[in-house]
Amino acid sequence: MREDDPSGTGGERRPAEETVELGVELLAHLEHAELSLGDVVDRIETITTDPAITREILDTAEMRGIIAREDGIVRPLSGAYVSFESDVIQREGEFTCRRCGASISTGHFMKFDAAEHGPFGSSCIRKVTGRE
Ligand SMILES: [Zn+2]
Repeated sequence: MREDDPSGTGGERRPAEETVELGVELLAHLEHAELSLGDVVDRIETITTDPAITREILDTAEMRGIIAREDGIVRPLSGAYVSFESDVIQREGEFTCRRCGASISTGHFMKFDAAEHGPFGSSCIRKVTGRE
């Protein structure tokens, strides 16, 4: 008997295309003016740790004009950043933060068209969206 695995190998039950869509949406919602590629990958890692899918997320986002990449710097172009009132929902319960693995009692979820992404703790949701 195994506990379900909320933090472990990370959401691999999603089909790859859906993971890519979710990743692209995450990039479309970043509030940063620019980010290092490493910081972007850090955020994508909340969705997938598969390097091939990570690359596909970046390529797809660039192809759609959501980000521009230059010399290891990523600039989000879409400006469709997350509005906390409408795009982040909170749920009470026992959650494990997808980013840092902490136990949290309030889960923050980003609501995208493709899926919900979370849960995150209150500080990690700000990190992921760029509201540090
Ligand atoms: Zn966290």
